[in-house]
Amino acid sequence: MSKNPHILDTPIEFLKGVGPLRAAVLQKELDVFRYRDLLELYPFRYIDKTQFYKISELQADLADVQIVGKIIRIKEEGVARKKRIKATFQDDTNTMDLVWFKGVSWVKKSLTVGEEIVVFGKPTLYNSTFSIAHPEIESLESHKKSLSTAMQGVYPSTEKLGLKSLHSKGISKLISGLLEQVIPFIPETLSVVIRDEYKLISKREAILNVHFPKSENLLAHAHRRLKFEEFFFLQLAMLKLKQHKKETNLSFPFSRVGTYFNTFYNEQLPFELTDAQKRVLKEIRLDVATGKQMNRLVQGDVGSGKTIVALMAMLIAKDNNFQACLMAPTEILASQHYQGLNKMVKAIGMNMALLTGSTKAPRRREIHAALESGELDILVGTHALLEDKVKYQNLGLAVIDEQHRFGVSQRSKMWKKNSRPPHILVMTATPIPRTLAMAVYGDLDISLIDELPPGRKPITTFHKTDKNRLSMFHFLKNEIQQGRQVYIVYPLIEDSKTLDYKDLMDGYESISRYFPKPQFQVSVVHGRMKAEDKEAEMARFVKGETHIMVATTVIEVGVNVPNASVMVIESAERFGLSQLHQLRGRVGRGAEKSYCILMSGHKLSVDAKTRLKTMVQTQNGFEIADVDLKLRGPGDIMGTRQSGLLNLKLADITKDSKILSYARQIAIELLEQDPELGSDENRPIYKEYMRAHHTKMKWSTIS
Ligand code: ADP
Ligand code: MG
Repeated sequence: MSKNPHILDTPIEFLKGVGPLRAAVLQKELDVFRYRDLLELYPFRYIDKTQFYKISELQADLADVQIVGKIIRIKEEGVARKKRIKATFQDDTNTMDLVWFKGVSWVKKSLTVGEEIVVFGKPTLYNSTFSIAHPEIESLESHKKSLSTAMQGVYPSTEKLGLKSLHSKGISKLISGLLEQVIPFIPETLSVVIRDEYKLISKREAILNVHFPKSENLLAHAHRRLKFEEFFFLQLAMLKLKQHKKETNLSFPFSRVGTYFNTFYNEQLPFELTDAQKRVLKEIRLDVATGKQMNRLVQGDVGSGKTIVALMAMLIAKDNNFQACLMAPTEILASQHYQGLNKMVKAIGMNMALLTGSTKAPRRREIHAALESGELDILVGTHALLEDKVKYQNLGLAVIDEQHRFGVSQRSKMWKKNSRPPHILVMTATPIPRTLAMAVYGDLDISLIDELPPGRKPITTFHKTDKNRLSMFHFLKNEIQQGRQVYIVYPLIEDSKTLDYKDLMDGYESISRYFPKPQFQVSVVHGRMKAEDKEAEMARFVKGETHIMVATTVIEVGVNVPNASVMVIESAERFGLSQLHQLRGRVGRGAEKSYCILMSGHKLSVDAKTRLKTMVQTQNGFEIADVDLKLRGPGDIMGTRQSGLLNLKLADITKDSKILSYARQIAIELLEQDPELGSDENRPIYKEYMRAHHTKMKWSTIS
């Protein structure tokens, strides 16, 4: 902290009504460390305080509700640590239960039979009776008194916060106290020009009204202002970073396209490149020639042919006497890349090696040596590439395939593999909508392969349930007898590995029964196998020695077996859309008509139904990504939440994409006019940018 910390940087502990114990819970549960964090803890919705439900009106899928009534009975159930309190709550229409599992003795003391109260919480239906677990309770009298505005913010809370009386209402009270104290000190963060032009209310008004809206209109204005600000500073930071990288990150200029590239192009390339591939290759070529580091993302749907583009970029590196590497997220994918590319590379007199976690020590040493001597031109592998021992003579280009599978820190290691950072080409298979790409990868240049190679046949997709299993098997048999191969994939969910393993093995058994040896050969690949066994099984399938590949999602990305024509996905409702799309992308790679069969149970959630329906209806990765974004929100997609890129508090990339677009546009124009943000006019922006830069934007030092 600086010498004169701003009042908003005061540790939350010192706020009246907080203290060390509540502070600890606020930190742990809500990431609220300082005054500022509490101010930015926005209500996630608002309830109309004049709006009440009757118990008879409750439905199973309601969000939080307010009900007026009284407790008519309090019962303690269970013993020792399993103790709970159940209160019967009644209004003039019916009765329901209020239940507490925690803080039982304290709760018991605070409840009074017969008093008129307002109960607030989310009702659930259990044995045809509604109940609310850990409801908030307020006496009707005090509820009436606090009716200063009709709209009351609902804040996120958790059980642990509830135990410290920090339900939504408790938090609201803290914020009200905080606002009284700090309102005059909340700085304006936007310039007058921008505020005028876009009719944005002041920061102070926005903060006041987001917490305690004076009217719906002002709440809408508060939201607009705060969302704009979130997007604006995020975009500003990304654009500044891009600008900064362009200015300072010198890399190695690849000034020519030479013999290796040309020989490959003329003699080895097994097909004509699509126009989109050619265009992207050109973008890369121009970019690596500048002397500044390339930081480029290649986006393209499954099967759009990113690998060959990456290879050709690596050939340009070689033509300029540099080494290149290609990092993939799984061993299977890395070794497939190696097998696919090595032949072609060898044919033009280059050396390529594969390095993964299961590479044996002697071979590993050989590779290390060959890499340092410059004998090796291209190294393909997994995370193993990032180890300190892996030193290059002269690494000029690092390609990262399926980059969303890698953490930010892993990627940053690539930068240190040469005296200057090498050019970086990241490839993502999961296409993401433009708005999201802008927000997430605003600091990268984006190339788009928006065209599939010719001759791809559409993959017919069905959704089937268990009762169709026999006919499904029959269909597979038919395909296999025509010489095709088949995948059957089971879900793998981290927290229930044993269950999934059992599902897989049960499935394997019934498949083996229906497809008996020696006529049918079945491979299995799952997470519990040793890497080399996985490889061996995979290799058998690739060679066509086995007909069926029963697997968990380890085969999800990249795997390429053109003869495979059917992808069966078991418990498809448990997969996310982008995963389903990836899996389906494993077929339809050869000349044969291909199919994807989504198997699911009967009972499906609304979201699951939407996912499966989307898969049946479209094969366009960008459309699928759009639906995915709507269903899941941007945080889960591409692991952006994990990388901290999208810690938006209020703004929503899906719903607020318009605000995002103009926030970005304004940021671009602003930097064009005042690249250093040095004018008096832009002083507030500069200050906020610097402040945010120090805290939130630490990730931004790397691509
Ligand atoms: P992805 O973009 O999903 O990584 P790949 O690079 O694995 O896709 O390419 C998928 C398949 O398409 C591979 O078998 C590849 O050889 C083939 N392919 C790539 N480009 C073309 C092209 N221009 N014409 C025909 N086939 C191509
Ligand atoms: Mg790929």
